Amino acid sequence: MSRVLIIGAGGVATVAAHKCVQASDVFTDIMIASRTESRCKKLAAALKRPVQTAQVDADNVPQLVELIKSFRPDVVLNLALPYQDLHIMDACLETGVDYVDAANYEPPDVAHFEYSWQWAYRDRFREKGITALLGSGFDPGVSNVYTAWEKQYFDVIDTLDIIDCNAGDNGQAFATNFNPEINIREVTAKGKYYKDGKFIETEPLEFSKMFDFPAGIGPKKIYLLWHEELESLAPYLKPYGLKEARFWMTFSDNYIKHLEVLQDVGMTRIDPVMYEGHEIIPLQFLKALLPDPASLGPLTKGKTCIGCLLQGSKDGKPVKRFVYNVCDHEESFRETGAQAVSYTTGVPAMIGAMMLATGTWKGPGVFNMEEFDPAPFMQKLNEYGLPWEEIVY
Ligand code: NDP
Repeated sequence: MSRVLIIGAGGVATVAAHKCVQASDVFTDIMIASRTESRCKKLAAALKRPVQTAQVDADNVPQLVELIKSFRPDVVLNLALPYQDLHIMDACLETGVDYVDAANYEPPDVAHFEYSWQWAYRDRFREKGITALLGSGFDPGVSNVYTAWEKQYFDVIDTLDIIDCNAGDNGQAFATNFNPEINIREVTAKGKYYKDGKFIETEPLEFSKMFDFPAGIGPKKIYLLWHEELESLAPYLKPYGLKEARFWMTFSDNYIKHLEVLQDVGMTRIDPVMYEGHEIIPLQFLKALLPDPASLGPLTKGKTCIGCLLQGSKDGKPVKRFVYNVCDHEESFRETGAQAVSYTTGVPAMIGAMMLATGTWKGPGVFNMEEFDPAPFMQKLNEYGLPWEEIVY
């Protein structure tokens, strides 16, 4: 018997709302609130149970506080954009409500993301007696839970590689699978990985290699990117003797070609530029031109495969294991009206909220996903549409 307030009504929130509706034994009352209430209403109309909707500017803390006080949720599930994280955390602190998100805070004017801003809330959440669960998407999110789960098979973990493959095709010349602004900021930023006790910076997409994916996907080129979960997972695995931790993502040659041109002509810039007497931010203008990721749902075919490859040893013998999920774009769309990239994020977002709402994961404080027992989360992944598999090499 609990109440969840979902903030945001985009691709990820769409899936999370469908999944909260399915979990009727846990979430008895649901509200979807976002900047544009018409999107919340459209989403509500597609759900199998009545839910409430509201308009809210999640950058406006007093407005959020008022909404939280009127709906009285047990947990706030933040599926707006990373820019809103701190405002929503402030509102949760003021009202004493648990908080879950799927991406770490990013200031709008710098393409830079790290946990320090949210970790700075630890004492305040502890003192208030409430819990914040950070990064409950797939990567971050399931990637952290997979890592915590796999630890049982190792005494020593030499390397962790988180590998994210979207082998789907949406038939567009160039489109991103989730919010274009967030996606392009991530991909065009410098890369970074962990090696021998420190983080090493790379040029954007400087390193790539081939990886052979299961489930008939086959070999694909993967590129090294900086991803937020490495910031918490590298210190977490340090007691296991971790030498190297990296994050990889597939991109087609066509995607890279378009991105290079857009970058070369300045369309991915996030600083203001004067245009006909107005300030515009080129990346935000580009976002307005690109297909809305939500519109790609019915067009996308193929699969995603995201997993963690760990290498090390147990009892002196070498161990190499890949734990992963394969998700089908068309099946995701049939079930929720959103493609697999939103699906693989929205399901764990709901499960994270469920872990807190049921008291399965308990605070108080600010936590990354690997800090809790992975077993109940792994079980819910199987129950709610993201079954996992393992390859033991
Ligand atoms: P979308 O752009 O599809 O949706 C974002 C939603 O947030 C929109 O409904 C938007 O409103 C709303 N919003 C934006 N600003 C505000 C505001 N100030 N107040 C209220 N609502 C606001 O994004 P996605 O659904 O693709 O992504 C949601 C989150 O999930 C992002 O933080 C993203 O980074 C994260 N993510 C995490 C992944 C993971 O694996 N961990 C993978 C993919 C995404 P409007 O409709 O008015 O624009």
